[in-house]
Amino acid sequence: MTDTIKGMAATRATMESLGLKNAATQVSKIIMDAEKDKLAYRELLDRVMDAELAARNDKHRRRNLVGAHFPPNAKRLDEFDTAELDDGLSCLQLAQLKDLVWLDAHANIIFLGPPGLGKTMLAVGLGLEAIDRGYLVCFEKMVSLVRILDDERVDRNAAFRLKRIRKCDFLIIDEVGYLSISRDQANRFFSLVSDVNERASIIVTTNKEVGQWAEVLQDPVLTSALLDRLLGNARCFSLKGKSYRLKHPVDPMDNGGSL
Ligand code: ADP
Ligand code: MG
Repeated sequence: MTDTIKGMAATRATMESLGLKNAATQVSKIIMDAEKDKLAYRELLDRVMDAELAARNDKHRRRNLVGAHFPPNAKRLDEFDTAELDDGLSCLQLAQLKDLVWLDAHANIIFLGPPGLGKTMLAVGLGLEAIDRGYLVCFEKMVSLVRILDDERVDRNAAFRLKRIRKCDFLIIDEVGYLSISRDQANRFFSLVSDVNERASIIVTTNKEVGQWAEVLQDPVLTSALLDRLLGNARCFSLKGKSYRLKHPVDPMDNGGSL
């Protein structure tokens, strides 16, 4: 018995030194279960490797979730009720978006419409789905993205954030069009979107028809170049209806509402 315990400790130590820390914590139980279930050697090996892989995927997912910078109270797509909309996104379309085929195809998505129709919720919900499948996701409101781009050279945090944004698989830019930006800012924004668009998907939420974007970016030539990049391979969902917030006002003491 003592030999077995000693032997197990040595096995665990070897596994740890090989970097299989997660499997090492579970290996005793896995072996006991394998004896009970009369597993073949290969099946036992699979269980050990699966234990390591599952723990690593979980850690990766949790790290991605923190690094995405989603707004507080991020909600899952299952909570989104398409029947609340008058038009713009059907239940079937939502299910198709959720399968993330568009993400593998590097397509972009635009959610357009007035406030309170769930544009941010949809973008974040798709972000959560993507993280579950192991994609690197970044969320930024346009206003903070512009600020980060302004600060890139002088602020290490901004530079660090942009590094992550530039390598992500899926960038969400929330609330494009709520503020006008300077020409320099528009140039930096355009250059970032062009870079990201080369190798990743972008979701934009906006309250402005794309025809009005020139007012925001203050440069018609730049705007059409940006739209050319973004819309080249994009699906646009123009949401119609009444604000969910107005239809379902929350108790002011309940903080779980807006994203
Ligand atoms: P927008 O970004 O279009 O202004 P939000 O995504 O911020 O709208 O939605 C406002 C609030 O209403 C959020 O709490 C969101 O979860 C909720 N909401 C909006 N539309 C729906 C919907 N169709 N089903 C469920 N909740 C919704
Ligand atoms: Mg929003």
